[in-house]
Amino acid sequence: MEEQSHLLSHETERFSQDKELEVGVRAVQMACALCQRVQEGLISKTGNNGFQSKDDNSPVTIADWSVQATVSWVLSKACGSRNVSIVAEEDVQTLSKTGAAGLLEAVVKTVNESLADAPRFGLKAPEIPLGSSEVLEAISRCNSNGGPTGRFWALDPVDGTLGFVRGDQYAIALALIEDGEVVLGVLGCPNYPMRKEWLGYHHRYHRIVSKLTPPTSESWDKGCVIYARRGSGKAWMQPLLHVNKKFMWPNSARPVQVSSIDNPSLATFCEPVEKANSSHSFTAGLAHSMGLRKQPLRVYSMVKYAAIARGDAEIFMKFARAGYKEKIWDHAAGVAIIQEAGGVVTDARGRPLDFSKGIYLEGLDRGIIASSGPTLHDKIIKAVDSSWDSSSL
Ligand SMILES: [Mg+2]
Repeated sequence: MEEQSHLLSHETERFSQDKELEVGVRAVQMACALCQRVQEGLISKTGNNGFQSKDDNSPVTIADWSVQATVSWVLSKACGSRNVSIVAEEDVQTLSKTGAAGLLEAVVKTVNESLADAPRFGLKAPEIPLGSSEVLEAISRCNSNGGPTGRFWALDPVDGTLGFVRGDQYAIALALIEDGEVVLGVLGCPNYPMRKEWLGYHHRYHRIVSKLTPPTSESWDKGCVIYARRGSGKAWMQPLLHVNKKFMWPNSARPVQVSSIDNPSLATFCEPVEKANSSHSFTAGLAHSMGLRKQPLRVYSMVKYAAIARGDAEIFMKFARAGYKEKIWDHAAGVAIIQEAGGVVTDARGRPLDFSKGIYLEGLDRGIIASSGPTLHDKIIKAVDSSWDSSSL
């Protein structure tokens, strides 16, 4: 009897996670469409660079706030606002400042355009367009601080905003964390090229070539949503929804798997574009000592996690300057996806990343290493150990 009730509650939990995964994927698909519209607008605009700077000098655009508001609104409608707890990157301070009325107006307009299109993604649209106070509330509702118990979503509305404003790679990252463990990960990568060779080029070249040989509306040349549920042993990828098409779950998803390459001389490693985010000289030394021969693939945002999960690269390394604290929304979705696709993600001591300590990855030893499997992973950790003391990190 007892066993049966245990089974029941387990089944119920699984059902709800499947439903949450589905809602999460639909919301991220919608967010990808929103970002594509905003990015087109930013690129075609000359003069105005279209972004604001935050206190830490990192850029933020109307897409960051608009995605956060939209995903927050969708999740609370689908799961009940009292049941939804969200940790997310943006706050409303800049938007609520006097003098920011134009910015807020642009965000409200973008959010309403996106939500009006929600039924196409199988999601509910508001009966009447949201007012600015409702949009601000949806953004500021994402005020959870995470922690070791309970369930919360972690959202990075636009990861890699610098890549986004440059017309390059960026991602929309959504994860569900339960009792400190990532149970669902969804990663939207609107500019991910289906021909992996293009990942190494600035997206501008891809745009030019696409113009010369335009993809047909049915061909899948770029953009995907990758997702995974913990313990399922599978990660999935689906194309972005074409304009005027209706989203059908699971929308021609196909499984993705990490690469089987475990010989360092054949492996590709990726790292952040900006030196400020990870030491390029330290990873160059590691690459040399491990026998990695290929040039590093420098890519903006969590698209690097997607590249490992899809088998387009074998290693991702990030060694930030001492004192920098990694945030959970920059990693949670990617970690779950890589693990289910067959890969490994740890800190430089080989320990799993700890999502139970609030908004930061506390206790992280030196850096983050993701790889396609244990053979390469062990080699990287050994290489880090032997070169760490002589590094200036
Ligand atoms: Mg962001």
